[in-house]
Amino acid sequence: MSKVVNIMGIPFDNLTKQDLIDKLSDPEMTKGFIVTANPEIVMATRNNDDYKKSVLSADYVIADGIGVIIASKWLKQPLQERIPGFELMMSMIDYASSARKSCYFLGASEEVNLKAVEQLKIQYPQLIVAGHHHGFFDLKDEAIVKQVREANPDFIFVALGMPRQEQWIAKNIESFSKGVFMGVGGSFDVAAGEVKRAPDIWIKLNLEWLYRLIKQPFRWKRILKVFDFIFRIIFRKY
Ligand code: UDP
Repeated sequence: MSKVVNIMGIPFDNLTKQDLIDKLSDPEMTKGFIVTANPEIVMATRNNDDYKKSVLSADYVIADGIGVIIASKWLKQPLQERIPGFELMMSMIDYASSARKSCYFLGASEEVNLKAVEQLKIQYPQLIVAGHHHGFFDLKDEAIVKQVREANPDFIFVALGMPRQEQWIAKNIESFSKGVFMGVGGSFDVAAGEVKRAPDIWIKLNLEWLYRLIKQPFRWKRILKVFDFIFRIIFRKY
């Protein structure tokens, strides 16, 4: 079994969600950058060198999106499992609250950010929230970086959407002495209860993307990217 699977120049770590949580509980792992990459992210790295550099600077690149799993199978280097970013975030929060590690929540609208933190505190009464801030700021805003750094969090969830979240992390992680960073896309919207994830059966059948498309038809362009990605994998047009 390959430890790393290269898909269109992006090295995916062949890890399960549990493997990652085990790594996080290693006392040596005090700083890190996790990218949960879906086909859209892989495609975005193709014509954006700066973004590609940000993704390649991650310590772990995890397969989020069934398209990435299909691609790995097609390349005869199957990745063990799909790890949806939202599920990894929730497992990290679960671990953080039992291990007394603190979390920072950066991103989404002010309202969603507040609601997400409120909901997570209800779900995990032990959760230590080091701080939180909405995601509508200038990426160059140093005051935000300072604010997060001074909160001294163990885990920093960054929900700015791609490519902004990975770019923000890659640009700023150097100035932190500790903290595991992860871009989580629309996960705060789900945690806040604003966006519903697909029912389990859709997830099991690997049709979460279709459910999202039906619920948010304005995302159709994104789905085209997934088909473009699969097409390129099949015909080796990287
Ligand atoms: N967002 C943000 N700042 C921005 C743009 C977006 O905080 O400048 C938030 C937005 O409110 C949403 C998340 O980033 O909560 C992006 O969600 P989406 O589902 O689009 O994530 P993606 O699929 O792009 O990773």
